[in-house]
Amino acid sequence: MLSPNNRNKLISLLEHKNYQTAGDSFVIFPDDTDTMARIIKTANRFGIKIVVIGSGSTFDESFRHSENSVFLSTRRVNSVVYVDKTNMFAEFQAGCIWKTEFGKLTSEGITFPLNIGSIGDKRTFGGIFSSLKNDSCVTNFFTGIEFITADGTLIRYGSRTLKNVAGYDLIKFMAGSMGKFGVITSLTLRLFPSEDGSCKTVEIKDISAQNYRIPEGRIYKNLILELDPNGVFQTD
Ligand SMILES: Cc1cc2nc3c(=O)[nH]c(=O)nc-3n(C[C@H](O)[C@H](O)[C@H](O)COP(=O)(O)OP(=O)(O)OC[C@H]3O[C@@H](n4cnc5c(N)ncnc54)[C@H](O)[C@@H]3O)c2cc1C
Repeated sequence: MLSPNNRNKLISLLEHKNYQTAGDSFVIFPDDTDTMARIIKTANRFGIKIVVIGSGSTFDESFRHSENSVFLSTRRVNSVVYVDKTNMFAEFQAGCIWKTEFGKLTSEGITFPLNIGSIGDKRTFGGIFSSLKNDSCVTNFFTGIEFITADGTLIRYGSRTLKNVAGYDLIKFMAGSMGKFGVITSLTLRLFPSEDGSCKTVEIKDISAQNYRIPEGRIYKNLILELDPNGVFQTD
């Protein structure tokens, strides 16, 4: 249960719209990344815990949220940033619905190695990416990410290139991170032509994980400590 004081702070940042109460849960639906960043900063300052959700499809009554927590949904941050059919890349905001967007692209002869038929109707790009097994083959087809960290900083990493050359790979790190390290706001991914049948697809159940596994290496362990030192993001 969020204290009335903290609830009012968030409602005022949301300009008195885009929030909902469900039992003792408070769910907010910011409609842009600036508002999200302001909310996260405020949460960090006042000890509010954030549970990041897409459509919330994988959450049920058994989920125990902590005192003073809020569900932050990306559902209203749902624009297609671009679809580049020449170079076969696209960027989607995290709240876009996978089935809707790939339904449209399929009719244009464009696909992705994830069987669209295996995906539920309301599943978001952010939710699917955040539940990937981080060693799944599909992770390699995500080439860029944007996310907001616990201090409200917007980080953009990667782009339309196939390889990331920095010391660590933030995409691999964030894949399957289940809302632990920040709110993913957009994802860039490769597209594939469907007409030649060469794009082999996998089922979502085979590449989804229930728990986050930290990639090997000390660099990632340090990154975890730096990204959310106050534990703003609650995951279980
Ligand atoms: C074993 C297994 C089998 C599965 N099988 C299927 C299946 O057959 N069909 C299917 O559709 N789904 C399946 N799923 C669920 C799937 O992996 C995705 O979690 C789900 O589709 C995403 O739904 P959602 O967008 O509503 O995300 P949510 O349920 O809201 O969130 C899913 C997870 O991602 C995090 N998250 C969501 N958005 C963000 C964001 N923007 N930034 C950071 N973190 C975020 C949440 O904190 C949560 O941990 C399966 C999962 C598992 C573990």
